Amino acid sequence: MSHLSDADKIYLLNSIREIEDFPKPGIKFKDITTLLGNAEAFTLLMDHLVERYSAMDIDYIAGIESRGFIFGAALASRLKTRFVPIRKPGKLPYTTISEKYSLEYGVDEVCIHIDAFSAINTSKPKVLLIDDLIATGGTATAAVNLINKAGAECIEACFIMNLTFLQGDLYIKKTTSVYSVLEVF
Ligand code: AMP
Repeated sequence: MSHLSDADKIYLLNSIREIEDFPKPGIKFKDITTLLGNAEAFTLLMDHLVERYSAMDIDYIAGIESRGFIFGAALASRLKTRFVPIRKPGKLPYTTISEKYSLEYGVDEVCIHIDAFSAINTSKPKVLLIDDLIATGGTATAAVNLINKAGAECIEACFIMNLTFLQGDLYIKKTTSVYSVLEVF
């Protein structure tokens, strides 16, 4: 079944382990490895994403390092479309373009290959961005800007979870449409 009932959402949320004080004190880390290791949960989630996106005519799925690679690549294969990695600086081997963004203290950066969206001859290819989780929304907003800078159009940003109390979804919505499978209060 690909439409998610409230019971399905609770089941998926319960399949994700929470680790207190990782990677630093005060953070409750949402560990999706337990979802990935649960074939029923992973399939339920992916079937739902396939149902949502199969009619949208997506040219590329862009995944944010590193958990966005897992869901993004799996979904791209299921939708018979293309996958593009968005990575931290110094990881991609060919020429890149990048986008900096602010953190609480300091700056971070995301990068993409300059020719990431040149596999097909379309002037503005449609891209779905995917990552596991929205916290402040800074990483995803920078990734949307990067996709647009690379000559494509980010039609939606998709997440497995949204930490609603941080309101990062509102920040991302200034640049693209946002869909989150699970809301964490
Ligand atoms: P942000 O840019 O603040 O929205 O942070 C989003 C990125 O940080 C995503 O790639 C998440 O995987 C990671 N992240 C932030 N907070 C958490 C958390 N509590 N649990 C797991 N991952 C997190």
